[in-house]
Amino acid sequence: MQKSLSSRLFRPEVLALSAYKVADATGFIKLDAMENPYQWPEQITAQWLQTLKNCALNRYPDPAASELNALLKRVNQIPDEFSVLLGNGSDEIIQLLLMALPPESHVLAPEPSFVMYKQISVSLGLNYHSVPLQSNDFALDMPAMLEAIKNLQPAIIFLAYPNNPTANLFAVADIKQILDSAPGLVVIDEAYAPFADASFMGELGNYANLLVMRTLSKLGLAGLRLGFIAGHPEIIAQLDKIRLPYNINVLTQASSVFALSQPDLFEPQTQAICQQRSELLVKLNQLDGITAYSSAANFILFRTPTGLADSIFAGLKQQGVLIKNLSPQAGLLSDCLRVTVGKPEENQAFFNGLVQTLTTKQ
Ligand SMILES: *Cc1c(COP(=O)(O)O)cnc(C)c1O
Repeated sequence: MQKSLSSRLFRPEVLALSAYKVADATGFIKLDAMENPYQWPEQITAQWLQTLKNCALNRYPDPAASELNALLKRVNQIPDEFSVLLGNGSDEIIQLLLMALPPESHVLAPEPSFVMYKQISVSLGLNYHSVPLQSNDFALDMPAMLEAIKNLQPAIIFLAYPNNPTANLFAVADIKQILDSAPGLVVIDEAYAPFADASFMGELGNYANLLVMRTLSKLGLAGLRLGFIAGHPEIIAQLDKIRLPYNINVLTQASSVFALSQPDLFEPQTQAICQQRSELLVKLNQLDGITAYSSAANFILFRTPTGLADSIFAGLKQQGVLIKNLSPQAGLLSDCLRVTVGKPEENQAFFNGLVQTLTTKQ
């Protein structure tokens, strides 16, 4: 049989890939994607729309997004001597980093972690490796990590801090040991920084191989697609060469500048989410058969009784609540579900739904 056009043309690793699937959330209470559930007060929305009136859609955006870049440095307390590169979401920055590597490079991350590290590495034909986290508390398995670093000499190590989907912060001493041992770059992915009382931003001056990446998505602007990475100017300058010139569009630049300039817009929302997180965690752990893991992010990972994750996930869906079923990923995530912390009434609907499915299943 003749091979199809695509199978003759495209790299085998691309042909072998399965697409990153996003569940259709229409009509559901959406607690699957770590979004901020709150919308803006009407008055702020009106001001924002005023700002957008001045956007010239017929013109290309500022290729360097200078105003936004400077504002991000200020808001995130990034010292002047470091540079910041902006991406169309931090996903694009992960892609940029990996695109810059030589073909045979090795990439390392713990397992489980954010799926795009592997997805993009594999799509680019790089050698992706993962080291399982410790099964009891999802801490880094340091002997195994150091062994992998020694043997593989990875060009890039990704550490999500807090980690997705386990929601924990790795030990600072462990990360520092990795920074000291790594021959290449170590990317600390702080996507959940707004909910965590911890950061490596202040360590940039201490490690030449450290990059700190963040995003506005989990803070409350997932629709805008804006991520950024901070590091030594010499590294950022190289990455900037392969960034597409207008990757941050006019509307994203204007809207991000507007939103980040609002005093007290996100802070109360973030605090409400953290408060709800504590309450939900306590309630989940009071349920028979449920183990909920403590969280430094805006979501909670929890383990269901053996073999019940799929049916609990489906039961919640039937009741109009969409969360994330991680159990199919197996390994440490067998029997695990992940719920994003939403508004109080959404969390209550989730909790009631869970209680109801548990009572019918057990
Ligand atoms: C959500 C998430 C991202 C992706 O963020 P975007 O900026 O929306 O692309 C990156 N890293 C981790 C760990 C995440 O959970």
